[in-house]
Amino acid sequence: MTASTGSGVWAVLVAAGRGERFGGKRPKAFANLAGRPLLAESLERLESSDWVEALVVVAPPEWEEPCILLAEEIGAGKVHAAVSGGATRADSVRAGVAEVPEEASVLLVHDAARPLLQDEVVERVVTAIGEGWDGAVPALPLADTVKLAEGEAVAETVDRAGLFAVQTPQAFLAGPLRRALAGVDDATDCAGLVEAAGGRVRLVEGDRRLVKVTTPADLDFVETLLGAER
Ligand code: C5P
Repeated sequence: MTASTGSGVWAVLVAAGRGERFGGKRPKAFANLAGRPLLAESLERLESSDWVEALVVVAPPEWEEPCILLAEEIGAGKVHAAVSGGATRADSVRAGVAEVPEEASVLLVHDAARPLLQDEVVERVVTAIGEGWDGAVPALPLADTVKLAEGEAVAETVDRAGLFAVQTPQAFLAGPLRRALAGVDDATDCAGLVEAAGGRVRLVEGDRRLVKVTTPADLDFVETLLGAER
C-alpha cells in the first residue's frame, strides 16, 4: 500500500469524550492547547497526511457545528462529516464508521486526545494492513514494573515481558472492523473488538509523543512536547 490521495483510507477521529477526569466547562476536545482547541492538532495532522483520503470527526453531543467551523478555519477540506458521539468510545467509533462510505477499504481510528500524531505511525499501521493483517496498532513495551493490586495492597508483581501499552492511530480492514462493531462491545480500544471477533491484529512500533491527554497536567506536558517539535 502506498501513500496517495484516493488511498481508500478513511480516518475516524473520536473526540466525543466528556473528559470527566479532565474537568473544565468545555469538552476535553476543546481544551486550549497552545492557543487552539486540542482537536485542531490531530485534525490538521490527519488532513495533511498523504495516507488519509478523508475523515469523519466524532464530536461531543451538540458540538458538531463547532467541529465543522474548526475544520473550515484550519482548511481541513478532507472532513466529510462531523457526527455526534455516543455514551462509550465504541459507540462513538460506531457512529463515525457509519458515515464512512462502503468503498473505503481501510479505516484508521484515532483519539483526538492524542494530539501529537506522527505521520510515520500512520504509515506503519496502514502498511501492516497492506501486508494482510486485519488490524494494526502502535505499541510501546512497558517500561515500568507492573503490580497487580488488591485494594491498597500489592497482590503480585506481574512479569512485564511481552506486555505492551497500546496507542492510536489504529488501522483496520474495513470489513473486520465493521463486523466487530456490530457484535462485541466490551473492549477499551477498537483492536480489542476486532480481536474478540477473531481478527488478527499486529503490533507496530508506537511513539512516546502519542501520550493521551487525560488530566490538565497531561495537557501541559503535551504543550511542552509541541513546543519542542516546532
Ligand atoms: O476517555 P478517553 O480519554 O479514554 O477517550 C479516548 C478518546 O475517545 C478521546 O479522544 C475521547 O474524546 C474519545 N471518546 C469518544 N466518545 C466517548 C468516550 C471517549 O469519542 N464516549
